[in-house]
Amino acid sequence: MIYSTIIILTFALFCIIVLDNYENIRIRNEEIRLFQTANIVADTYKRNREDIILINTMVKSYGKQANARILILDSEKEVIVDSFNIYVGDKIDNKEIRSSLQGNTKSGTYVLEGRNVLQLSVPIISDIGNEKRIDGAVLISALLEGTFSDVRSLQNTLLQVSTLSLLIALFLTLIAANSLTKPIRSLNHAVEQLSLGHLGYRVKKQGSGEIGKLIDSFNEMSGKLRQIESNRKSFINSISHELKTPLTAIRALIDSLTIGESSIQTYKEYLEDIKQETIRMGQLVDYLLNSIKLEDISLDMTVEDLEDILEDAVKLIRPYAEKNNVSIHVRETESLIIKCDRNKIKEAILNLLDNAVKYKDPVKKQNYIRISIERNRTEARLVIEDNGLGIKRDDLSNIFNRGFRVLDSGIRENSNIEGYGIGLSIVKSIIEKHNWEIFVDSIYGAGSKFIIRVPLR
Ligand code: ADP
Repeated sequence: MIYSTIIILTFALFCIIVLDNYENIRIRNEEIRLFQTANIVADTYKRNREDIILINTMVKSYGKQANARILILDSEKEVIVDSFNIYVGDKIDNKEIRSSLQGNTKSGTYVLEGRNVLQLSVPIISDIGNEKRIDGAVLISALLEGTFSDVRSLQNTLLQVSTLSLLIALFLTLIAANSLTKPIRSLNHAVEQLSLGHLGYRVKKQGSGEIGKLIDSFNEMSGKLRQIESNRKSFINSISHELKTPLTAIRALIDSLTIGESSIQTYKEYLEDIKQETIRMGQLVDYLLNSIKLEDISLDMTVEDLEDILEDAVKLIRPYAEKNNVSIHVRETESLIIKCDRNKIKEAILNLLDNAVKYKDPVKKQNYIRISIERNRTEARLVIEDNGLGIKRDDLSNIFNRGFRVLDSGIRENSNIEGYGIGLSIVKSIIEKHNWEIFVDSIYGAGSKFIIRVPLR
């Protein structure tokens, strides 16, 4: 609407300027033509003033040609010749005549009885020896009707052309506005769908500019939201399942104790089992609390040797790895002094090592974990590589999300693989809190490589 108004106003201004210029040029041309006629009349009169019949004929003929009224006046402002034969003998006084009797030419436009008139006058100058004498003036007045009707017809043409172009412009603007707002409307609709809970709702890509990018980002966001929601559901699902199992066991144990009379020994045994189940539940709740506190990790930064922390973690995990037939090889490393939170970094490394054991490939004869610290002048890389199950390419971007577990047949069949999909999200939080980075590279069926990048400057 604003654009249309701007177009209309600009066009109207353009028309006014064009019409005004055209009118001025036409009047100016008319003026030049009449001045020429007036000069010719003055000149002819000067040379043939005795031959009044010739003068009369000449004035009438020029008057007709010029479509104007021509008067010749003497120096007393008395009309000597009138092409209309009406004012002969009358005295006429106006600005143009007064100016001409002082030796100047003058013109002016007037509205007489509702009609536009151009009036101009030139002096009749005779040369007496070296002197010049003003003998009178030639006054010409012409109707400007022709000029104005031309201006009006141009005005009409312009009006028609401008109305047509405005209609076309408006039509094109409407089409353009519609095609511009269409993707925005689609996005609006998509946002509504998201707020109604249709997570993962996608907008069809329209255009390649900024709007196209916006649609891409929206689709990506929508996909992520769906993924987060599905992680949340599977997380709650597995937690509820994990809590239900010990609860059912406890209930069964209590039921059997309340039915009939049992010996003290049986009571003791059952109570011990109940205690174990409650310990398991307690661990689970701790794990949950840990996950909720993820965002508030605070660091206790001290100067440490990363090689030392790595050794500690390997020492802790080795018995568990050996029990699961996974060998750990630490490549010759050198000490790397760095500022970090020792316990948190140890926890992160332990998590990665624990996963590498947990997700070993039972089909392979030899399972191993290779650890190395590589460094150059700007950064160090701690690499933990295994030849385990590996992760599918599609799942790679999600494994650091809280609650995400690869529910792959390999993992599901291997029912002893427990987990809630929290470990890697804790690792990522710890690493990023240190302003370090973590990446994963994995080939499904071949193994995985987790790389922690530690900037050294
Ligand atoms: P959890 O192990 O409790 O399921 P994590 O956050 O530690 O949760 O890991 C998320 C998912 O990433 C795991 O469920 C597993 O499918 C996959 N994963 C993590 N580490 C490895 C690894 N070393 N090899 C194969 N898959 C892995």
